[in-house]
Amino acid sequence: MDIYTALIHHPVLDKRGATVTTAVTNLDIHDLARASRSYGVRGYYVVTPIAQQRSLVSRIAAHWRQGQGRQFNPVRAEAFETVRVASSLAAAIDDIAQETGQRPITVATGAAIDTGHISYEALRQRLLTEEGACLVTFGTGWGLTSDAMEAMTLRLPGVHAVDGRDGYNHLSVRSAVAIILDRLLGARAPAPR
Ligand code: SAM
Repeated sequence: MDIYTALIHHPVLDKRGATVTTAVTNLDIHDLARASRSYGVRGYYVVTPIAQQRSLVSRIAAHWRQGQGRQFNPVRAEAFETVRVASSLAAAIDDIAQETGQRPITVATGAAIDTGHISYEALRQRLLTEEGACLVTFGTGWGLTSDAMEAMTLRLPGVHAVDGRDGYNHLSVRSAVAIILDRLLGARAPAPR
């Protein structure tokens, strides 16, 4: 499958559980672009309904793709080739459908997902063996809204430590993206001979 990632800035939750729109942060653009490129993700969508924020992301991407950023760091330019903007999740889905000829399966992530999910291994097998496209979505703020999650095709279980070492589960989205992409698309060390 063609894999895509999306960082959702609306609709997401705030600490009181209200649905809000969060601001795009430069660190999330860079780090998720680098993680996405490292795992062969075809496109990384920064999703925000705020037009000024989309044009900010486009300016940052242009700087690193062909501006002074490229001269300064061509490796980062390659990561920025994955960066795209979309006004909504639906717009990102339409973009992918246009590019691949079919609508992607959509996957929700979140620390608190512990029911109704597909295992990482099962999704990994689908990604590595099936045709089509898959869009793995990540939230900001206090996470994706339940409505947003319910509208998605699949859900992945929350990442957490083994029993006895868990209890604090507040990964940054940057850490969560790297962990989840590695579980889905990371090379597995060959079994010891
Ligand atoms: N803890 C909240 C959550 O995960 O929903 C806060 C959101 S966190 C700042 C932003 C995003 O990172 C989440 O929407 C999710 O996509 C991802 N994330 C954070 N911790 C995660 C975990 N333990 N398991 C899976 N995804 C996680």
